[in-house]
Amino acid sequence: MSQTTAEMQKAAGSSLYRKSRFDMPEQLIYLDGNSLGPLPSNVPAKLANVVQREWGGSLVRGWSNDGWFDLPHDVARKLEPLIGAEPQSVAVGDSTSIALFKVLGAALKLIGTRRCILSDSDNFPTDLYVAEGIAKLIEDGFHVKSLPTDEVETAIGDDIAVVMLTEVDYRTGLRRNMKQVTEMAHAAGALVIWDLAHSTGAVPVNLADCNADFAVGCGYKFLNGGPGAPAYLYISPRHNDAVTPVISGWMGHSDPFAFDSAFTPARGVQKMQTGTPSVLALTALSTALELFDDVDMTALYERAQQLGDMFIAEVEKRCPDLVLASPRDATVRGSMVSFRHPEGYAIMQALIDQNVIGDFRAPDILRFGITPLYLTEADSVKAAEALEKVLNEKLWDDERFRVRGAVT
Ligand SMILES: *Cc1c(COP(=O)(O)O)cnc(C)c1O
Repeated sequence: MSQTTAEMQKAAGSSLYRKSRFDMPEQLIYLDGNSLGPLPSNVPAKLANVVQREWGGSLVRGWSNDGWFDLPHDVARKLEPLIGAEPQSVAVGDSTSIALFKVLGAALKLIGTRRCILSDSDNFPTDLYVAEGIAKLIEDGFHVKSLPTDEVETAIGDDIAVVMLTEVDYRTGLRRNMKQVTEMAHAAGALVIWDLAHSTGAVPVNLADCNADFAVGCGYKFLNGGPGAPAYLYISPRHNDAVTPVISGWMGHSDPFAFDSAFTPARGVQKMQTGTPSVLALTALSTALELFDDVDMTALYERAQQLGDMFIAEVEKRCPDLVLASPRDATVRGSMVSFRHPEGYAIMQALIDQNVIGDFRAPDILRFGITPLYLTEADSVKAAEALEKVLNEKLWDDERFRVRGAVT
């Protein structure tokens, strides 16, 4: 690489870098923003204000006077450009699991006589559980076919009703080609649901350009919305009129405050809203999203690819016992890097003890999220050095690192 390219990349990286806008322990190297994003510095004061002044002072008047009622819509409008979604195509609320239930339920009503939901057996378990659950609920022959990662795309045929996939694999970071898979599914007459849990806020997504039918995504990973932050769902505007909500709650009614005893869905994606929105959680997410105001997602992803390549090189140089589980080719890798080791769990606990936080995913995966907003090349090197120390000095071989917590 020429000097000028290196300098340009460095400059691009430094304009994305904004660690001072997060509240994190100084010495910590945080490689787990794909599990729980860190706390943006502007969130605590904003939340305190909503709690004390709005909830405490306005009380029920807050719904109108302080804009609580519009909050889910405001956050949806902020998310749309981040995922290349058309205006008014996103609804915010619930968890990703519930958002998935809602879009899958909607999709299954649109597909006529086909009965098969196709997915990846390595998909995040909740996605498979939700699909199995909904198939059982509706009965009528619906079933889930989950295949090994590399067999899914060739199985898209004229028996498939819905292809339900996650763009970036939560364990390996393998990134599917959304546009290509969507085209294949449409050519076979199937609908597509994309789970963007590990994409949103990390890789450039363009739902409109991909012609996606439905999508869901997570608020607490790369979007830094806080533990249990609201999720979102997307419906292509071309399905708006045909979609009926499977959870028909009053916030999806065309006129909730008419208190009509019959459900008349709102127009557009608004009909997917169910109940009273979580104002505190939406406030945190909305405030956290300000961090993305001037972020170019393509530049952010390029930077994450560079940092990821560098982390792989540093780890492979120092830790020959670790086996790369992620694609080496950065263009098919999301914003994470994973390695396998049979003692992965204990190794990760020992690494956390060294102030480098990643996470462990069964059965043997050490997973590291790469977030250029607060990570540098120097952090990549320091993290690899800490990993080398844990392995060389067998720091992991200690009873206290084998005890498994409820959350890994
Ligand atoms: C993190 C993640 C979820 C999380 O679902 P919740 O309902 O928020 O617990 C769902 N799907 C995928 C692919 C994920 O990575």
